[in-house]
Amino acid sequence: MLSKFKPTWMIESIFSITPQFLLENHINCVLTDLDNTLIPWNSKKGSEELRSWLHETHKYGVKVIVVSNNSHRRIHKAVKDYQLPIVPRAMKPLTIGIRHAIKEFGLKKQNTVMVGDQLLTDVVAANSCQVRSILVKPLVNNDAWNTTINRMMEKVIWNKLIKKYPNLHWE
Ligand SMILES: [Mg+2]
Repeated sequence: MLSKFKPTWMIESIFSITPQFLLENHINCVLTDLDNTLIPWNSKKGSEELRSWLHETHKYGVKVIVVSNNSHRRIHKAVKDYQLPIVPRAMKPLTIGIRHAIKEFGLKKQNTVMVGDQLLTDVVAANSCQVRSILVKPLVNNDAWNTTINRMMEKVIWNKLIKKYPNLHWE
C-alpha cells in the first residue's frame, strides 16, 4: 500500500533535472505538474529559470507536457509563452490525465517520467500508471487551500515512507 506513494527519485527542483539524467534513464518525455512544480501556485507566469530549463531540455529532444489538475484557462495563461502541450483537469491521483497524455502524444510508459511536488496526487497517479516519478520540493512554501489538506495527510505518509524506505533521499 505504502509503495503507491513512493517516488522513483526525489530531486530538489524540476530545474535541477538535467537532460543527461533523463537520457541516462531512457526518458524522452517529461510529464510535469504545474502549480509549485513549474511555477508558484499563486503566480501567473513562469520564470527565466523555466525558460532556460525548457530550452536545454528541448535541445536534447526531450518532450515536456504539462499534466495538471488545474483548469485549461489557468494552465494556458501560465505557459502560453513556452508553447507547451497541456493536459488540464488531469484528476490526479486518478490516472486519467497521464493516460490521456500517453495516448494523445504516442508516448511509451517506459520512456516517460511524471514530475510533481505532491505524493498524494503526482506520485500516486504515476505509480498507478506504472510510470516512473520524480518528487520535487514545492517552489513556494504555501499552497492553495485544497492542497493544504493534502499536505497534512502527506506528512503522515511521509513519516511512514521514510521509515519503510530508509534509502529514500533528496538527490
Ligand atoms: Mg503541484
